[in-house]
Order: sequence, then structure tokens, then C-alpha cells
Amino acid sequence: MCRAIDGHPTTIRYAGPVGPATMPFDYSVLRAFDPMQTARPDTVMTHAGLEPHAHHGIVNPPVYHASTVLFPTLDALEHAGQTKFDSVYYGRVGTPTTSALETAVALLEGGHRAIVAGSGLAAITTTLYAFLKTGDHILVTDSVYAPTRLFCDQMLVPMGVRVEYYDPHVGAGIAALLRPETRVVFAESPGSLTFEVQDIPAMAEAIRSAGRGDPPVLITDNTWASPLYFKPFAHGAHVSVHAATKYIVGHSDAMLGLIVCDEAHFHAVKQAAVLLGTCAGPDDVWLGLRGLRTMGVRLARHWETGLALAEWLATRPEVVRVLHPARPGDPGHALWRRDFTGASGLFSVLLKPAPRTALAAMLDHMRLFGMGYSWGGFESLIIPAKPQDIRSVTSWEEPGPLLRLHAGLEDASDLIADLRAGLDRYTAAKAA
Ligand SMILES: *Cc1c(COP(=O)(O)O)cnc(C)c1O
Repeated sequence: MCRAIDGHPTTIRYAGPVGPATMPFDYSVLRAFDPMQTARPDTVMTHAGLEPHAHHGIVNPPVYHASTVLFPTLDALEHAGQTKFDSVYYGRVGTPTTSALETAVALLEGGHRAIVAGSGLAAITTTLYAFLKTGDHILVTDSVYAPTRLFCDQMLVPMGVRVEYYDPHVGAGIAALLRPETRVVFAESPGSLTFEVQDIPAMAEAIRSAGRGDPPVLITDNTWASPLYFKPFAHGAHVSVHAATKYIVGHSDAMLGLIVCDEAHFHAVKQAAVLLGTCAGPDDVWLGLRGLRTMGVRLARHWETGLALAEWLATRPEVVRVLHPARPGDPGHALWRRDFTGASGLFSVLLKPAPRTALAAMLDHMRLFGMGYSWGGFESLIIPAKPQDIRSVTSWEEPGPLLRLHAGLEDASDLIADLRAGLDRYTAAKAA
């Protein structure tokens, strides 16, 4: 009963639920994906995290938009408070939507559990906060993604963390750099812009055999290979971070990060994520889930087209060298073959020196390659890269421009035609 504005009582008659609020069938035969059934990546990528039996038979998990979560009783509220990490407690801490993506990526990569973050960089900074405090020492690869370096230099150093960069080719030599207060070794393989492949197994072994009771945490940025083409945990890493913004989302339309942990390190990272407020919007998490289901077929094409472009570029007179670890003859090729099961579409090419006007003549008129940061979407990108600005223990002395390319899903011969015309403009402007 409620009272209408003119003072006459109005009765609301309830005719029963509208639409399918109840489940008409027993859906239990549909079941959730069983990880014991197969570890084959294409099947895991397609099915992990789906629970159609719990959602009316609907294939995809619902996108929960949530801040508040209601508890039915005082007991339930108090119990959920004690098991916060594992219950649906508050939107920021996780929902069935976020756990679907976390489950799928952890299974695919071979980790224990995963945590979503609002961006790849948030995944990295959350992980570093989880393990570092004043007085600690961190070793970071000199080939690291530039914003990771800026976080180390501008946030960790003022906090009193000693940040030291190492040569990405260090391998087992990392042992000589370990100090009693080294808490983290941060790797990224292949390296941003220059694509050095790191010997993660040798580094992991050196860290293990240093014999410390509390060994440093080996974290690797696995964005380039994705959870599909490199398995950090099988190679000795403890935590793997991803810019899911790139291949997992795969369509250049959302920011998203993921942190995958082994069992020993999960709790510390989840705790840091909860303390820092690390979380992601539900629609972006859903875009990550949507992207993941097709990541295998997309990556196969990015890999194939990237290699085709790299091979073609290597034949051009303007090119000094191509930096792509999946190409035989690349300095990282042997390690890539040993440790990776595929390549993505990102690589670099070094050109012979020319004035800036020649570079502008090339890049200002590309038809298919867009100029922009990020990568991993369906479209091709090209951008000048300046490793000399972000190196401190290794040097980059090349006089010519370095271009970083992302091979998208376009037809490879159209991309080659675009590059051919661009290099022709480069040569013509250089001669002018
Ligand atoms: C893009 C990128 C990041 C950061 O990811 P965002 O989602 O852009 O914050 C981290 N590492 C690597 C290697 C990247 O390419």
C-alpha cells in the first residue's frame, strides 16, 4: 500500500516475476571448466572461468557492476570480513566477473592465482609495493618499459629503496649483483623497444642457489609474449605482470592489468592490491574476458604478419637491422626458441641515419600504420623509439632512427605496400 498524492490510497498489485528470474532446468550438467581435464592452451583460453551452470546456461559470466555487496545476516557480514580475499565482500576487492578473468589467466599462464588491476602499470606498481620497503634493494632490467623505470626512479628512490639497473643479458651473472637486502629482481623479456630476450631460467636458478632463506622475488613483465607464449612459472619466476591493455583486451579500447602469482607470493600481492585500492572497472574486465577468448587466433596472425614484415624489412637498403627475436640470426633467437612457444606482433627496425625531415616524410603519410603509443590491438602501429633516453647501464649508440612496429590483423601485403611507400619517401627526402 502507498498513498497517492491526492490522498486516496492506491494498491500495487504484484503479478509475479517478469521474465526468467528462476532457472527452468537443472543446469548442473553444464558445469564449470575443469582444469584437470586439459592444460592445452587453446582449450583453456576458450573455456576457463566460464560457469554457465550458475548463470541460466548463459555462456559468459554476468558483468557485475558493484560497489556495495549486501550481507543477509550479521554472521554473514562478520564471516565475510574474515575471508575478505576469497568472498564477494566489496566491489573493489572482487566480483564473479573479475574472478572469471583472474581464474582464466592464472590457469592459462600456469600460476596459482591472479589479480586484476586498472592498467598494466598499476599491476606493476602494486606488485613492487607488495615486496619493497625502505632500505631494500631492487634489480631492474635496463631494457624495462619506460614508465616502470620512472616509477622506480621517482617513487621508489624517494621512499628509500635502492634501485639498480642490470644488463638484460646478465643471465646467471645476476648472482654477483644480489645483496643481502635485495628483495626484488624485475625482468622484462623481450625488453621494451630493443627486444633483448632474458635468460629467465638462469636468473631464477642463480637466485635459488644464492641460498637465502628469504630469496628475492623474481617478477617478470610478460606482456609481449602474453600468458600464451611464455610460461614464467615453469621457467622459475614467482610473479608475472601483464598490460592486459595489449593482447588480452586486444582491441585498443580499454586499460587493464593483471598480476599472476605463484602460491607463495599471492597473499602479499593481494594484500597490497587491497591496501592500495587496485581494481578495474567491470566493463573493462569484461572486455578482457571477451578479448581472451580470441587471443589465440589473433596472436597467431600477429606473429605471422610481424615476421613477414620483419623479413621484408630486412631486405630493404634503408634498413641496418631488424630487432625481432623470432628471426634466425637475432641475438635473442636461441633463447626465444628454447623458452617461448610463439611471438607476438611487436618488433623494431633500425634505419640508416637521415635527417628528421626524412623520418617525418615517412611517418606523416602512412596509410595503414597509425602513430600512437600502446599496441596489441587489431590495427598496425609505428612509432619512433629512443632507447638512448631510457638506458643507464647499457648503451645505445646507433645514429639512425629506431622504429617500433606493431603488426596488426590487416593483410600483410597491404602493410608491406604501406611500408614500401614510406621507405621510398624516406629515401627521397634524404636525397633532397
Ligand atoms: C603498455 C605496457 C605496460 C603498461 O600497461 P598499461 O596498461 O598501458 O598501463 C607495461 N609493460 C609493458 C611491456 C607495456 O608494453
